[in-house]
Amino acid sequence: MSIKERIANIKKNIPPHVKVLAACKSQPLDKIFEVIDAGITLLGHNYVQEAVSMLKNKRINKEIISVHMIGHLQTNKVKQAVKIFNTIETIDSLKKAENINKAAKLIDKSISVFIEINIAKEQQKYGIFPENLSDLVLKIKDLSNLKLEGLMTMGPNTDIHTLRNYFKKMNMLFKKTQELHEIKYLSMGMSNSYMPAIEEGANIIRLGRIIFGERIK
Ligand SMILES: *Cc1c(COP(=O)(O)O)cnc(C)c1O
Repeated sequence: MSIKERIANIKKNIPPHVKVLAACKSQPLDKIFEVIDAGITLLGHNYVQEAVSMLKNKRINKEIISVHMIGHLQTNKVKQAVKIFNTIETIDSLKKAENINKAAKLIDKSISVFIEINIAKEQQKYGIFPENLSDLVLKIKDLSNLKLEGLMTMGPNTDIHTLRNYFKKMNMLFKKTQELHEIKYLSMGMSNSYMPAIEEGANIIRLGRIIFGERIK
């Protein structure tokens, strides 16, 4: 199946309000262009450098394409990230939020951010624990150059039933956060889990393998 056919199949099976983000890590530009030609306007990158080189290409129409940082953002990459991304989905501490805010101020940009939640409290995962969310939301509200617009999670690698319960928890956090601040997006669900994620409230799904095929290392 071609990338175009894969995307058409996915879109046929999901509600229209759900946005498909193509997770582009280690994909060559020609494949990314196939994705764009198939109508995807939301691109996710795990590495600042990959996004930088993609954006150098004149074929990327920045008026239409929105680029999200979905990988862990290192402190020494914050300045560059703020310059090139429309949204940083992986805020996982107040310190990081403050650094991003400072860098955004310097270039007079208002940048959209999501908070990353480590919903299953896994040791090896990034993201804040659910009990620390409200506090971080209230503090981010005071940072003038950040627009807090969503929550994101990677979800644990487990059976689909357990995963669905974590998605439910994410949805509860999403609704609770909406009482504190107007946020729009719940970014969760990947190639093997996007249907249950949507059923539990995701409105951005991040798809890699199911769009591009298995990654060749
Ligand atoms: C790679 C990646 C995805 C997509 O994963 P697939 O299993 O290939 O669909 C989604 N989100 C993040 C943060 C990723 O790194």
